[in-house]
This record gives sequence, structure tokens and C-alpha cells, in this order.
Amino acid sequence: MPTIISGKEVADKIKLEIAEEVSKLKDETGRTPHLAAILVGNDGASKTYVNAKVKACEVVGFRSTLVALEKDVSEVHLLNEIDKLNNDDDLDGYIVQLPLPKHINEQKITEAINPSKDVDGFHPTSLGKMILGLPTFLPATPLGVTEMLKHHNIPTEGKHCVVIGRSHIVGSPMSILMSQNTYPGNCTVTITHSRTQNLKEITLQADILIVALGKPEFVTAEMVKEGATVIDVGIHRIEDSSKKSGFRLVGDVKFDEVAPKCSYISPVPGGVGPMTIVSLLKNTLLAAKNKN
Ligand code: NAP
Repeated sequence: MPTIISGKEVADKIKLEIAEEVSKLKDETGRTPHLAAILVGNDGASKTYVNAKVKACEVVGFRSTLVALEKDVSEVHLLNEIDKLNNDDDLDGYIVQLPLPKHINEQKITEAINPSKDVDGFHPTSLGKMILGLPTFLPATPLGVTEMLKHHNIPTEGKHCVVIGRSHIVGSPMSILMSQNTYPGNCTVTITHSRTQNLKEITLQADILIVALGKPEFVTAEMVKEGATVIDVGIHRIEDSSKKSGFRLVGDVKFDEVAPKCSYISPVPGGVGPMTIVSLLKNTLLAAKNKN
């Protein structure tokens, strides 16, 4: 039977460590780490994610501020809000919850964030430093995945890691981190995307398979090598009338049939999701320490 990598369990442990560091920081400097989130519009999923982040701040003893803006807010107005947060000495870091409405240029917004407060790690400066292996804010989801591998001491050196998906926030940074000369890392990495041919032939070679393509239950048992480690980044709401909520959550991996082939596998929910949030907290603590 595979070991289930419980992101929730790892995240809870890291939250305790962060809470201890927060109280030490408060004693030494009198300051409490402070994270802000900008939320544009009323998208249900975005609201849920932002609320979870704010709640996590409370758990570890951070201060948090939510800046909620109407969905038709102008790009100029949003840039003004960002300017205010950049110049707010009381604030350690902030995020702009993505996706943004179509009339706003996401790249422009990302680039307006002061890199010293870029706790999502999406600014070109943060990503550039990451590629060079310099200390910086790492994108939350890939950072969370590396913490999961670390927690279980999963060997990575010399292994073949296949990443499905090449987005700027998950697949691409993930592939870079797994190839770096560190632990977890030192993998031989193959990054795949929608134009990849013979995907199954490639995934069958993976010792570590990291799946982030955004298609419910796309990865099936016949795509996975016996004994592989599978990390499922995807998250989807599937209608399910047997549930009180009317839906259930699934990942990009068909968990029930893939799990028996794996040595390690992360579930959805309770896998990468909680790790993404805790990584944001880690980055905020780092920002607060950098300031001091
Ligand atoms: P995205 O921006 O939509 O990127 C998806 C990537 O998958 C693209 O690179 C795309 O290729 C590739 N792809 C699509 N179909 C494919 C196929 N048939 N075969 C191989 N590659 C294919 O998605 P994302 O933001 O990276 O997110 C991926 C998933 O992770 C989503 O379900 C998202 O909700 C979830 N997510 C979860 C967390 C968390 O905390 N748990 C955080 C972030 C994202 P092209 O580049 O060629 O289009």
C-alpha cells in the first residue's frame, strides 16, 4: 500500500513552527508579521482561497488585511492600491488573488508589486532569483510540493521527475526546483504540456510524477510506473448529488486506481492545497524577518 502524503498533516506541523517563530519575533522586535490580500470581484473559488489564507494568518498569529475591490475596478485604481501597499511600512507582504477580470493585465499588476513584498513569488525578480538559486520568495505551490517531499524524506537525487503542465505559477517553477542542485532536487526533469506527444510513454518513466494540468482525473493507472511518487496539484469541484454540498473535490489524478501502484501519493483534498497556503505563510515570515 502507498504512503499517503497528507499535506494537511505537514502543513499543521509547519504552522506550529511558524507560530513559535512569530512569538519569538514579537518578543525580540515588538512586530507582528502582516499579510494583505487584494481580492477583485466575487468569484466563489477566489473568495474561498483568500478566506482560507486570512484564516491561516490568524492561526499562526499574523495580522491580515483584506482589500476587496469591485469586479469592474479599473486597472489604474488597482495599480493605486498596489502602490499604497508597496509604501505601507506596516505591511510585510501581500498577494493579488488570481485570476483577475479580463480587462486587467495580470502581468502588469504582477510587475507592479514591490519584489520585497512579493510573497506569492510571481514577480520576475523573484522568479529570476529562483532560477539562479538565490534566496527569494518561491512560488507557493511548488514550494509546498518540495516541503511534502522533504517531510517524507523521499529520495530525489538522480530520479526522473516528470511534470505535467508548464504554467508560470506551478509547472515551470516546479520543474526548475526539481532540477536544482539541492534537496529536494537533482532530478532529471521532463516538463510536458498540451503539445507533448506520447505523454503516457513519458509519464511511465517517471519516478516522481507532478501533475498540474487542470483536468479532472486525467492521470490514470496505465500512465503511472509501479512504485512511483505521484503529487496531484489539480483541484476541481465535481457535481455530486450524494454530497450535502452538491459537489466533491477531485484532483488531476484518478486517485483510487493510481494509488495502489504508488509508493507515495498526495490526495485531493488534503494534499497540495494546505501546503500552498502554508508556503505563503512561510514567505510572509521571511519577508518580516528580512525587514528586521
Ligand atoms: P494552467 O495555467 O491552466 O496550466 C495548465 C498546464 O497544463 C498548461 O501548461 C497546459 O499546456 C498543460 N496541459 C493542458 N492539457 C494538457 C494535456 N492534455 N497534456 C499535457 N499538458 C496539458 O493551470 P495551473 O494554474 O498550472 O493549475 C493546474 C491545476 O492545479 C488546476 O487544477 C489548478 O486549479 C490547480 N492548482 C492548485 C493549487 C493548489 O494549491 N492546490 C494551486 C495552483 C493551481 P499549455 O501550456 O500547452 O496550454
